[in-house]
Parts: sequence; C-alpha cells; structure tokens
Amino acid sequence: MTAWALCLLLLCAALACGHAEPEDARPSVVVTIFPQYDFIRAIAGDLVKLEMLVKPGSEVHGFDPTFAEVSTILHADLFVYVGGESDRWTEDVLNRSDHAINAISLLEVVDALDEETVEGMQAEEEEETAKDEHVWTSPKNAIRIVETLRDALIKLMPEEAGTLSANAERYIGELNALDERFHDIAAHAKRSTVVFAERFPFRYLMHDLGLTYYAALPGCSSNEEVSLSTIAFLIERVQEEQLPSVFYIEFSDEKVADAIVSATGCKKLLLHSCHNVSKADFDAGVTYLDLMKQNAEALREAVN
Ligand SMILES: [Zn+2]
Repeated sequence: MTAWALCLLLLCAALACGHAEPEDARPSVVVTIFPQYDFIRAIAGDLVKLEMLVKPGSEVHGFDPTFAEVSTILHADLFVYVGGESDRWTEDVLNRSDHAINAISLLEVVDALDEETVEGMQAEEEEETAKDEHVWTSPKNAIRIVETLRDALIKLMPEEAGTLSANAERYIGELNALDERFHDIAAHAKRSTVVFAERFPFRYLMHDLGLTYYAALPGCSSNEEVSLSTIAFLIERVQEEQLPSVFYIEFSDEKVADAIVSATGCKKLLLHSCHNVSKADFDAGVTYLDLMKQNAEALREAVN
C-alpha cells in the first residue's frame, strides 16, 4: 500500500469515527407526559436516557404518536404511561409489538377512582364511566408511583441500586412533606368547598383532602364550550358559599373564570394540574414539586 493510500484509509477511519454517534449505553426510558418525566428525572437523573413524548407546551389530551415515536417506544428499556382515556393509543402500540414491552401504567399502580360527575357539571352524553386518569394530583399516589418506578429502574440497572434508592428516598421525603402540607391546609380550612371554572383534573387530590367541589366540566372533557347555565350554577355556588376565589387551570383561556369573577367579585387562582408544563417552565427546570407547592398555597387562599 502506498503512503498516500494509507493516509486516505486513516483519514476515512478518522472521519467515520468522528461522524458516528457516540454510543449511549444508558437505559432508555420513554414516558408519555410530564409527571412521569419529572419523577424519573428525580430518581435517576442522568443515569437514563429520558424522553417525554408529549412536548412541553402542547396539549396532552389530543396526543397521537408519530411513526418515529412509536418506534422509540418499541425500542425503549422502560415505557411509562398513564393508561386512561387520553392514552388509548398505547393499547394499540403495546398489543401490536412483536415483543413484550417493559411498561408501567400509572392507573395500575394506584387505587384508581372512577371519574365523577357532580351537581352542575356539564357531562358528556353517553360517556361510560371511566377511571379518572389524573392519579398524580394526589401526593400519596405520587409516592406509590415513585416507589414503583424506583423498583423498575433498579431492575434495569442493579449496579446503580444504591444511588437510585437514595434519590428515591429523598424525593419521597419531599412528597410526604407536600402531602402533610395539603392535609394541614384542609384541617385548618375555614371552608370545605371549592369551585373550578374549568375541566376538573383534581379528583384524587380532592378525594384525599375530603373537600367538596363544583366544576364546569369533567376531568378530560373534550367539550370546550361551557354553557351559560353551567356558568350561572357556578356563580350561584360562589355567592351562596361566599367563596373568596374560583380556580382555573393551566393552558386555559380563563373565560369562564373571568365571567364568574365579574359576576361575583371573587378572585381567580391557578391550580396547575401538572399534565404538562409550558416550554418556558420546562426550560427553566420547573418540577412537579414546584407546581404542587404553588397549588398548596392557592388552595390555602381558597379555603380561608
Ligand atoms: Zn387529563
């Protein structure tokens, strides 16, 4: 071989090497939405390659995966989804796969509650009762979910068991403190009724705290239009119970809340359901704990 040919060969090898993606040997974890993403991040940090399918700032309820995203799930070492109405598409992916996917459904980790239609709520006709999917809104549920995720991660990386266990323990400590904070607020509340001018994704939290609620629409309602009679009913509740505030949720146009505010003079407060976060919040590293602590202070204001 001439020197020139050898040079070319070495150059090619160097280029090929330089162009190749560095091999990422970490386990790949794919999750559907933000709560799971944040829990895994808290337990495993950089030990896993973590991907959230529903991108920050986008609506969770109408999500449909692309072909590439389905492929990512099929190749994941662990897939975490909720398993409720908004996740119906996962059944198809999991059933269609030619190999068993290592998957965790949050609804199967907790004691799932049925979606509830309370007085005044504008329910969708002929909708069969489904399990309410917003399991993460209860800190107690979050603890059970974190324990399950920790165990699954340890199975993937037994050599990291010490780190994963320690991270999970510290995080569960914070979730316990959050749970106590909510219960303390409920225990010292001056009133036990709250009003949501929105969809109602807080079934598990309200159930934990034993609070009475009224809301415009059920948890994952695709019905965006709130009727005048529903708004009138919520206004009446705020007036009769002399409530100081009404809740709206993230990514809302806040129109119904504004209508209630202008009719009653009450205040509107954000209760963040943590389905997803905005792009700005995501980039700023906002966590489930950050949002839930803000929720606790909003609730404190609403029941006092
Ligand atoms: Zn939802």
